[in-house]
Amino acid sequence: MEKNEYYVLITNHTMKQLPDALENIALHHWIFNSDMQLSSREYHPDTHRVAIGDTYIGGDGKNQLMIAGPCAIESREQIEQSCQMLQQQGIRVLRAGCYKPRTSPYTFRGLGEDGLKLLAEMREKYGLLIATEMRDATHADKVVEYADIVQIGAKAMYDHGLLTAAGQSGKPVILKRGFGSTLQELVNCADFIMSCGNEQVILCERGIRSFETKTRFTLDLCGVAWLKEHCNLPIILDPSHAMGYAYGIGDLARACTAMGIDGLLIETHPNPSCAQSDSAQQLNHQQFAGMYQSLQAVAAAVGKRLV
Ligand code: PEP
Ligand code: MN
Repeated sequence: MEKNEYYVLITNHTMKQLPDALENIALHHWIFNSDMQLSSREYHPDTHRVAIGDTYIGGDGKNQLMIAGPCAIESREQIEQSCQMLQQQGIRVLRAGCYKPRTSPYTFRGLGEDGLKLLAEMREKYGLLIATEMRDATHADKVVEYADIVQIGAKAMYDHGLLTAAGQSGKPVILKRGFGSTLQELVNCADFIMSCGNEQVILCERGIRSFETKTRFTLDLCGVAWLKEHCNLPIILDPSHAMGYAYGIGDLARACTAMGIDGLLIETHPNPSCAQSDSAQQLNHQQFAGMYQSLQAVAAAVGKRLV
């Protein structure tokens, strides 16, 4: 990997010694216990700073970014209503899916490129940044073209084609943890992106599958504590997909904020009961405003600024 005036040579972690031939050439070398390398604090102790429009996350760790919007863009009217609310609340990043990964083939799969075009219009009209998901390689280039922030969803976490496309995109990437994936697998996937030359990776904990069935998934806050300790990437949390029901989102968002995280991803819809995907977990606009307001004091208590 080429980096400014030098090269970074990465091997897998089973190599425990610097080869003799590199003895007089290498500026530094690191011996790792796993293939969490570029994303580890051993290699780069400070949290990477990822620019988000006129602000950032990571770096000095002062900012907590709010990313919000409906699960999917469904119509012009729906997305306009969403943007108006976000603008009123002072939110910078609109997140809405155009290519939805679904568990059933008989449900809404998103508006595709028409959705991307509408999102681009919304960016112009409301001055919001656009985060949206690449589901598979057939449209990765389109998503890179339109999005300000590229999302790789939980079900696609291992897709090497997408990890490479995101790594070559030059854009910030939200990498969601697969619901059946270990933390090691998540950070290895982050290393896939980073080894393509893109260090603007944001990890997202969105709940893992446990024996519990009363909630949709189980939000792994222990995992977040581990990532904060060992990984050099900003971490955001998605309580919406973890809980699966609107009623728990406010409590979880406050708990996540109290952990001192870099961002939250919250699904909100102008009329959740009519939403074409993830209807039960989306907050209506009034609920969203109340939840967001309640985060201010929690964020301040842990030295964070909501951006
Ligand atoms: C989403 O973000 O709307 C989504 C489908 O989430 P996940 O990939 O975490 O399941
Ligand atoms: Mn969703």
